[in-house]
Amino acid sequence: MIIVIDPGHGGKDPGVVSPDGDFEKDQVLQIAQKIKDLESGFQGKVKFYLARTGDWELSLEARAGLANRLQADYFISLHQNSDPSHKGRGIEVFALAPGGEGEKLGKTLLRNLVNRTGLADRGMKFAGFAVLRLTEMPAVLCECGFLGTPEEAKLVTDPRFHRQAAEALCAGIAQYLRLPFQLPSTGWDPKAEIEKLRQAGLIVSPHEPEQAVNWGEFATVINRLLAARYKQEA
Ligand SMILES: [Zn+2]
Repeated sequence: MIIVIDPGHGGKDPGVVSPDGDFEKDQVLQIAQKIKDLESGFQGKVKFYLARTGDWELSLEARAGLANRLQADYFISLHQNSDPSHKGRGIEVFALAPGGEGEKLGKTLLRNLVNRTGLADRGMKFAGFAVLRLTEMPAVLCECGFLGTPEEAKLVTDPRFHRQAAEALCAGIAQYLRLPFQLPSTGWDPKAEIEKLRQAGLIVSPHEPEQAVNWGEFATVINRLLAARYKQEA
């Protein structure tokens, strides 16, 4: 089962900008990446493709085209909302037209999103958005809260909200497809933490979790970290 997750906007197009200057493009990318992180919970039965994995521009045609070329089974676009009064709240999900698989999938995702995040339920809606029109598979567009509304913006920019939304979407997908889904264990894994440092190039030699660190090693890791940061900023 292939599901394309489409984080809206990107690059020069920030989408909605919150009163604090947070961009919609960044929030939805966070949610999308967290969905990808949860992929293993489907035990190989679902593969997620992100239409965009970084901050770049992507046309609506390209997003739908990617899903069509991959012959994806479903397409889920992620957005956050805003209204002129800056008072809107809650979650709404769009499909192209009533009566199809998009509506059924959308309702399941909406229910899960509302239950998990506690945001208001604005209901299932229908619209001829380009990504819904141009995709050849059931497609939905989720508006995950109001980034343009001051109080709600604080909530929907919180990493905890991103994780909740990702978990809700995965749970909804599993429910809709009648597939088992398990959240990965959140237990502390010191060996995995060390391996992350190795993969990031901050340590080179093998190390055991119980092994003591001396000042020479500690300073080396910090200096590698600083060098990586300055390289990024340059
Ligand atoms: Zn948007």
